[in-house]
Amino acid sequence: MRQTHFLNARLADGSLADLTVTGGRFSAIAPAANATAPPAGAVDFAGQLVLPAFVEGHIHLDTSFYGDAWRPHIPCTDGFDVRERVAFQVRSLEQAAPMDERAKNQLELYVGHGSLAMRSHVMVDAAVGLKHVETILGVREKYRELIDIQLVAFPQSGILSSLGTAELLDEALKLGCDLIGGLDPASFDRDVNGHLDVVFGLAERRGVGVDIHLHDGGTLGLFEIEEICARTAALSMQGKVAVSHSYALGDISADALARAGEMLAASGVAIMTNAPGNHPFPPAAALRSAGVTVFAGSDNIRDSWWPYGDGDMLNRANMIGYRSGFYEDRELEAACDVVSHAGAKALGLKGYGIAVGAKADFVALKAEHVPEAVVAVPRERTVYRAGRAIAKDGAMIA
Ligand SMILES: [Zn+2]
Repeated sequence: MRQTHFLNARLADGSLADLTVTGGRFSAIAPAANATAPPAGAVDFAGQLVLPAFVEGHIHLDTSFYGDAWRPHIPCTDGFDVRERVAFQVRSLEQAAPMDERAKNQLELYVGHGSLAMRSHVMVDAAVGLKHVETILGVREKYRELIDIQLVAFPQSGILSSLGTAELLDEALKLGCDLIGGLDPASFDRDVNGHLDVVFGLAERRGVGVDIHLHDGGTLGLFEIEEICARTAALSMQGKVAVSHSYALGDISADALARAGEMLAASGVAIMTNAPGNHPFPPAAALRSAGVTVFAGSDNIRDSWWPYGDGDMLNRANMIGYRSGFYEDRELEAACDVVSHAGAKALGLKGYGIAVGAKADFVALKAEHVPEAVVAVPRERTVYRAGRAIAKDGAMIA
């Protein structure tokens, strides 16, 4: 079995360690020995920080224009409106480069920056049918050796509002999607129970997890979160359900937030945020203190929703810390946790982390410690998959 030694790796606790990888997993982690005769072929990290590979918890591989022509953002006519944005998206996708090329561009961007696990939502509706799912399933297969990808069957045009979508979602799960998605049950489909009946019904029947896009704010959004938590607990789906965005958690009273935190923790429902620029967003520190799993995603990269995003989850940790007012070391470490261990927990990844027995998927980067990595976001880094270098300084190694 192939064995590789990595010497003088700085771990998150500040210690220097020698790591041994055997057959793609960490087989030994020991204090740095500074041996006069290191093992043949050993890689000396010389004190570089080693972190587990980052987790991109929410992306759209099918709708990004990354690497395609620049498409100027079209603003909504009367404030943010999901329905109008979906219509803009349909128009811009008609002129886009082939989907598999755009998805590959995004995947290589992620791998280059050290994300080796990802959850992508993939659009399913009456107009596109299963075309996006079929294409992205094919791309996932091609990149299987480099990155682990979960796919969410995502009803971008609603479920009840888009005739036949419930059946298509079921087909998407049968084809290989890992989770069932949802979209603003109240404001989009205007029927919270009707929408959630389909989502949780499919989850139960197919034995898959749930990840729902929820932009609805205030007490309306909170009501939907309560309904999602109640259904999760009723079906004993703790740890398998996430609510993406959950803007409502960022614009309710402190008392209501405290109650919501308790409820989310008790029902095992995770919250995904991308720390959006101009929206209230879930307060990561308060939710984490309550025991809620808060994870992160970029959501959109150069798509018709917004032009930002660089595929670097360490930079996303920086944005989360910046927008959350995180200054202390323990807070900056929490920002890093959101894009790594918490993401792994939300996605249910097995064998994650820098630990004996874990998969040797990691990033070595020029930083003294985790807080510095989060504020400095060093571009210089090497990405290892199963102990093998696959990318350096943002680019794939051929
Ligand atoms: Zn999304």
